[in-house]
Amino acid sequence: MLKSRAAVIVKHNEPLVIQNVPVPDLDPGSLLVRITSSTLCGTDVHRWHGPLELATDSLPIITGHEPCGIIEEINGERTDILGNKVKKGDRVVWSYVSCGSCYYCSVAVQPCICPSRSSWGHNRADRHPYLLGSVSEYMYVPAPCLIVKVPENVSSASAAASACAYRTAMHGFDRLGAIKSHETVLIQGSGPIGIYCAAVAKDHGAKQVLMIGAPAPRLEVARRMGVDAVLNFEEVTDPKDRRQWLRDHTGGRGADIVFQCATNAAVPEGLSLLRGGGRFVNIGVGGRAAMAVETLPQQLTFLTVRSGEPRHWLQALDFMSTRADRYPFEEMISATYKLDQINEAMDAMASFRVVKAAIEFA
Ligand SMILES: [Zn+2]
Ligand SMILES: [Zn+2]
Repeated sequence: MLKSRAAVIVKHNEPLVIQNVPVPDLDPGSLLVRITSSTLCGTDVHRWHGPLELATDSLPIITGHEPCGIIEEINGERTDILGNKVKKGDRVVWSYVSCGSCYYCSVAVQPCICPSRSSWGHNRADRHPYLLGSVSEYMYVPAPCLIVKVPENVSSASAAASACAYRTAMHGFDRLGAIKSHETVLIQGSGPIGIYCAAVAKDHGAKQVLMIGAPAPRLEVARRMGVDAVLNFEEVTDPKDRRQWLRDHTGGRGADIVFQCATNAAVPEGLSLLRGGGRFVNIGVGGRAAMAVETLPQQLTFLTVRSGEPRHWLQALDFMSTRADRYPFEEMISATYKLDQINEAMDAMASFRVVKAAIEFA
């Protein structure tokens, strides 16, 4: 039986182990993909440290949920999200799967909150179909996944990042709606989602994009990705000074739009930086905060975002392909590792030393 070398979490907080995981037979409509690149995400680090809140994950799991790869085998005929035939050798990413028939999928048309939704990077590696984590030589693509071909000018690592961080950002912009040309967008957080959001906000016509984040190397990448002014919160530690900085940049009002791309703990400060009547897009997960309802800005619009719909995978890839000459997307992938270096890569992500770490497969 064919096996796939994969990075497996066998115990929380202990080094990941490279194991030979079985490659399953393909059900009709499913695919086997040879992974070219898998980027790591903060969520992978959280899952390594312990189960996510509300999650019932059990070990062992193959880490990673941001894959890009080349189709090795298809059981039957498949088309991509645009209706084009896919074939062996195509470089692709693929969506998560919602059930399609529950209230959220079929009536509310909010498939990201489908209670039966399946996703990757937290599935047991010792149960069929085994290969549902992306830091693995091969991945199994269940039949209901929608397939998106990767444009030639987008690297596998950037495409892999579109499978989580970037498509979530696109979902946020979808929920937000239009940005007007007089509006200032503030981004909280200088991780991959924050920096990608900055580029999209600029592209969608914001007058200026401001960012509060850290550490300095991430903010330098953010500058090159279109951010007009950055504030390093490791240097400006008093929230009062940060508020003043924001007011100085917005005629004393505050930002028209805030994207929280850090952690829930950043929400109270983010709301204090939003003008009355502003729009707040809450993307960053983890962390906790409590605040008094009576301090909320007047006429606030508060939007939360979970994951992305299949079309957001496509939008994220299209954006990188068509804006390749304007934004240095490759700078977001700040470190590449081989499969055997998975623990080094996880440490780098856990310490925020890199914007995004990619595991590259030859
Ligand atoms: Zn992720
Ligand atoms: Zn559903």
